[in-house]
Amino acid sequence: MPDYVLLILLVTALVLLVGLGLVVGLRRRPGGRADAPGDAPAPTPAAEPDVAPGPDLDETEVAVGEPPAAPALDRPETTAGRLVRLRQRLAGSSNPLGRGLLALLSRDRLDEDAWEELEDTLIGADVGVAATGELVERLRTRLRIEGGDAAPARQVLREELLALVGTDLDRSLAATGGDGVPAVTLVVGVNGTGKTTTVGKLARVLVAEDKQVVLGAADTFRAAAAEQLGTWGDRVGVPVVRGPEGSDPASVAYEAVRAGIERSADVVLVDTAGRLQNKTGLMDELGKVKRVIEKQAPVTEVLLVLDATTGQNGMVQAKVFSEAVQVTGVVLTKLDGSAKGGIVVAVQRELGVPVKLVGLGEGPDDLAPFDPEAFVDALLEG
Ligand code: GDP
Repeated sequence: MPDYVLLILLVTALVLLVGLGLVVGLRRRPGGRADAPGDAPAPTPAAEPDVAPGPDLDETEVAVGEPPAAPALDRPETTAGRLVRLRQRLAGSSNPLGRGLLALLSRDRLDEDAWEELEDTLIGADVGVAATGELVERLRTRLRIEGGDAAPARQVLREELLALVGTDLDRSLAATGGDGVPAVTLVVGVNGTGKTTTVGKLARVLVAEDKQVVLGAADTFRAAAAEQLGTWGDRVGVPVVRGPEGSDPASVAYEAVRAGIERSADVVLVDTAGRLQNKTGLMDELGKVKRVIEKQAPVTEVLLVLDATTGQNGMVQAKVFSEAVQVTGVVLTKLDGSAKGGIVVAVQRELGVPVKLVGLGEGPDDLAPFDPEAFVDALLEG
């Protein structure tokens, strides 16, 4: 056989061997598409916005995020369980106020210095100057008249604190709409107060009450907010409507309400952006969100979220928001980390609206309906 034929045979054998090796290698590669090595990987379908922007709105790509299948869902705690924890947490954190008050009132003699000390304790706990003055006056009168063992200071203090906090305010949440539309709750407040967390926790409260909920991530200015809300929704099987960062909040709110109507939801909770801007900007933005929502369904509740640890600063913010939009209830967050439970009294007096919910920690079920008796009792426990 001539040399060149041998050479051709050798090269052909080599090419065949290399080819075979490649095929075997492809078949062994983990996840390798060996059966069709030339194909490109199948593209993941792009998230198609399944809803269109509402009338008069910017073109934004708004999408309804569907929660995962049922087996992975959390079972949120019931209201009764939350109230027990409310009491325990408050007894742990706000106790210095109650203890201080009781210690003062149980002195043998209440001289002027003691009364002044009592005033300082109350003002220090953010009760507010006017409310403190009234409470001290009532206590002075009642303890002087009733005196001795007839009415123990604790009982008088309990009654007066309860009267101050208010037992006859309507603290219920509008959790069902009318005429085939869901109840719509707007959640407003300055960033960092716990607004988005509150929307997530509130969804759990409602799910525990067997309500159908839809969330709207209309805080489109904070990159993480929609993401955060998506996680809250996924955990309890609640759909979250969201748009891209920087998109028009009113558009997201509109689509959330539309999704709520389509799904016959009981409640739509809408998170809003809480940038501290001038009052006009705030009014314009919240006003637009509300107007656009109300093309489909009335806003039944506007909850203002306030951080209980921010004291007077929080009160200033509260006033700005209440002038921009008609607040119907207050959520006081971080009451677990504050010895200043008196803010409950101050904020109600300042805004003329009841505290409806309190945040008591970072846990998913650390939000409870505000219960004046449990609150005052926890304050005086010790
Ligand atoms: P947003 O900017 O107002 O939406 O605030 P976020 O919801 O992101 O919350 C800000 C921080 O406050 C987070 O770390 C929350 O976990 C925390 N937070 C919210 N509510 C409470 C509460 O009731 N107690 C405590 N201790 N932390 C809270």
